[in-house]
Amino acid sequence: MNSQLLKKAFALEDQLIEWRRDFHMYPEVGFKEFRTSKKVLDELNRLNIETTSGIAGTGVTGLIRGGQKEKTIALRADMDALPITEENNVPYRSKNKGVMHACGHDAHTSMLLGAATILSGLKGSLKGNVKLIFQPAEEVPEGGASTLIQEGVLKKPKVNAIVGLHVVPRFPSGVVAIKEGVVTAATDKLEIRIIGKSGHAARPYEGVDSIVVASQVIGSIQAMITRRTDALDPKIVSIGRIYGGEAHNVIAKEVTMSGTIRTFSKEARQIVQELIRKTCQSIAQSMGAKADVNIDQGNPPQINHPGLFKVLRSALPESLGKKGVLDYKTPSLGGEDFALYSEKVPGFFFLLGCGVNKERSSRPLHSSHFDFDEAILPVGVAAMACCAISLTKSGDLI
Ligand SMILES: [Zn+2]
Ligand SMILES: [Zn+2]
Repeated sequence: MNSQLLKKAFALEDQLIEWRRDFHMYPEVGFKEFRTSKKVLDELNRLNIETTSGIAGTGVTGLIRGGQKEKTIALRADMDALPITEENNVPYRSKNKGVMHACGHDAHTSMLLGAATILSGLKGSLKGNVKLIFQPAEEVPEGGASTLIQEGVLKKPKVNAIVGLHVVPRFPSGVVAIKEGVVTAATDKLEIRIIGKSGHAARPYEGVDSIVVASQVIGSIQAMITRRTDALDPKIVSIGRIYGGEAHNVIAKEVTMSGTIRTFSKEARQIVQELIRKTCQSIAQSMGAKADVNIDQGNPPQINHPGLFKVLRSALPESLGKKGVLDYKTPSLGGEDFALYSEKVPGFFFLLGCGVNKERSSRPLHSSHFDFDEAILPVGVAAMACCAISLTKSGDLI
């Protein structure tokens, strides 16, 4: 491995920017990436890469068959945009009103096309196959990754390991940030319905006040987190919406609340869900009310595989230079559906800094002002290609 990859990637810079701006100008939301996936398919066909399209609707895969087909390493990019109106005044501003690539998936898609270009050129010397996964709908609950997995994206040929990346403004532009173990949180959606009994507000004992029950539930959930679970395995439960009652002088029959649960381990995820159910049921019961608790299982935590981390911890600096790779310690409280692949096969998810250096790059993800320095694109390409090459020859580590 050497800096040749970075040179090859920088040679593609103009093309990468052209792709990125094209995707950026015509963003499409989850499962509606029709134009995007058609363009991806056209580019893969142009590179003479074997393709499959129409999986999970708009998903596209490419397969680069290496010389010795011992292993298949998958590289994944997400393609969807967000329902946000872009406020940047740039020549490549979104032309689809109310839709914007505000999470950098335009960068991810372009970079994977760039990696495909390099890897298809190195096909003869690859020690295994590389599967390129262009995924729809990362931003949509029960989105692209779960559907692709159900439709067999990790089979035929069997995928031995998978790699993905995300651009993030919190790291300097062009720096690859890596971490062993947990990198993103589990994100589960919580819905609680408290059912009481309506009555006159002057005689609450004739009814069952669902608002008082709900207020106890909210306080008890927060107390339960700090008093009944291990503080060294962090957990967050936030109630973001509450609705109940109809008039100031009527005891509210029903309160509904919804929120999010963030955890970093399977154990924490399970225990929090269990304690929330018990807390709601026991408080409701003690007050003469009923509680319905519904938890939608979202993304699991992304936990980077130790074997993959070991290989890539040494390979990435060889390709990108020592200063190009940074070890970081704090996982993100955000979620990623890439974690669903990692539940099935060893996975490695890394970050590519796109901020700090320049004012316009320090705008947060999911904001109507998000933008990044396009000079990061070749770095992401070299990093993805490096991951594929190193892992195809990584022996028994995975
Ligand atoms: Zn996002
Ligand atoms: Zn994203």
